[in-house]
Amino acid sequence: MRVRELYRWEKRGTIAAMANRAELLRAIPSVDRVLSCDAASVALGRFHRAYVTESIRAVLDDVRQHVTAQTRLAAPSPEEVMHLALARMDAQQPLPIRAVVNATGVVLHTNLGRALLAPEAVNAVARVAASAANLEYDLARGERGDRDDLIADDLCVLTGAEAATVVNNNAAAVLLALNTLAEGREVVVSRGELIEIGGSFRIPDVMAKSAAQLREVGTTNRTHADDYAAAITPQTALLLKVHTSNYRIVGFTSDVPLGALVAIGHARGVSVMEDLGSGALVDLSAYGLPKEPVVAERIRMGADVVTFSGDKLLGGPQAGIIVGRRELITRIKRNPLKRALRCDKLTLAALAATLRLYRTAPDLRTALPTLRWLTRPLAEMGAVGEAAVPALRAALGEGFVVELVDAESEIGSGALPIENLPTRAISITHPTVGADDIARLFRSADPPIIGRIHTGCFLLDLRGIFNPEDIVPVQR
Ligand SMILES: *Cc1c(COP(=O)(O)O)cnc(C)c1O
Repeated sequence: MRVRELYRWEKRGTIAAMANRAELLRAIPSVDRVLSCDAASVALGRFHRAYVTESIRAVLDDVRQHVTAQTRLAAPSPEEVMHLALARMDAQQPLPIRAVVNATGVVLHTNLGRALLAPEAVNAVARVAASAANLEYDLARGERGDRDDLIADDLCVLTGAEAATVVNNNAAAVLLALNTLAEGREVVVSRGELIEIGGSFRIPDVMAKSAAQLREVGTTNRTHADDYAAAITPQTALLLKVHTSNYRIVGFTSDVPLGALVAIGHARGVSVMEDLGSGALVDLSAYGLPKEPVVAERIRMGADVVTFSGDKLLGGPQAGIIVGRRELITRIKRNPLKRALRCDKLTLAALAATLRLYRTAPDLRTALPTLRWLTRPLAEMGAVGEAAVPALRAALGEGFVVELVDAESEIGSGALPIENLPTRAISITHPTVGADDIARLFRSADPPIIGRIHTGCFLLDLRGIFNPEDIVPVQR
């Protein structure tokens, strides 16, 4: 666009080309002159005045640079500047946050926003977003209500817990629970469970911020029941078990199962909390997937408090869910920190709708995008790939080698870290263009397509791709 304009000016500007640069620079119209031309009123009807002014300035800067460099040999008219500024505003930058295509094969990709919401959850969000809602309003009694009531009943039914509350994410849930139940006292944790997950969530650091004192027991690879028992003193507030979501310790190992930990704690009057991380609401092995701890099972085993994420295997919005014994949940809800960590109506609407699906949907695999991706049949991914290969070859042109291949996807977000799922992917290579450059090309598409690089090959994983055209890059 700009190049074509320049060319036009050059043709028209043969006489002006004789003039010297200084004269040309003086002939460039001022912002005010551009703003008072007829074309400006159209722009001012469509865009904020400051934005129009800013765009005109940018065009004038551009023109000045070209004139100075003698790559432009005529001064534009005010109308021409306005026309260019308008084109610039029309082609405005996309919002900083935008939809992208997740062809990484990582189903719960933290950097790409983890779980996709079910349509029912999206609709629930849309309905309350543009409307007032009974967020903290008891419709039966016509008085102030509790926002946790919107999700507590379904959470209790689904987990078997007595009570539930929800905050912004699981990191907040852990912080809030520790601060409420163990401030100034000791929390006993196995050295094999002092996890760090992405985004600098480290159990010792969260513990410090919660003002609870970490009491480490056991060793990295082995912790025994006696280690916990010996660590309990009048100062002990909690025994904490942390699900090692994103790694496994293998070999000469032992840890204390939750049931045994509960027996030790309860015999001494000490509560047991478990940070499950992902925390599935249903047993994934029923769908042929590797087993992840199920929240209801942990409650049945006697955990007093269990925390888990809303946007990992649960497949809902970012949230941190705390379920457990009523008395403890009540204390957690009364903590002033809860006010700072609480969820808004959009999150609660999405979570309520997602939980409702767990109770009502005939088949969760079709109801929840996360489960749909995780249980996607190879043949279905293959069929999308077969259709995408010729389209990609046509779009990329000469030299690119586009092939359907077998690969492995990850569940991501620290769920089932060592079990990968067999998948189908499209590999794209080129004799002279490197994988990084191919990845950049796909990222620059609109919408951006995010693949992954595996052993030097750029791969588009088909696990989350349902329409072949979604992975054919379109440049803006
Ligand atoms: C993911 C995870 C967290 C943090 O959860 P967010 O929802 O990301 O805040 C904490 N603990 C464990 C064990 C986790 O896997």
